[in-house]
Amino acid sequence: MEKPVIDAHDVKCGFCSALLEPSTDPKFKNGYACPVCGNADEFDNILAVVGEYVEDRTADKVLRQMSDTLACGNLFKVTPKPVPKKVYRFVIDL
Ligand SMILES: [Zn+2]
Repeated sequence: MEKPVIDAHDVKCGFCSALLEPSTDPKFKNGYACPVCGNADEFDNILAVVGEYVEDRTADKVLRQMSDTLACGNLFKVTPKPVPKKVYRFVIDL
């Protein structure tokens, strides 16, 4: 098995940023694991977590751009609320 790749990005562990490797755990049919902390899951679940991560990161960027634009016009005082940083078990470089 090869290292997991989503949209040409290497998938990394969300906790320690190590590249995932195929899991040898027999409980997974197509599982991958972090060689450092043992964070592991089925590829389908990893895909779902990474998808959520990408979606959130993209939404975050749009929101920041919007508040920048409004702040420039000086018409509104925009105080972006600090969004609690969610921890994703699996991430990719965007
Ligand atoms: Zn890890």
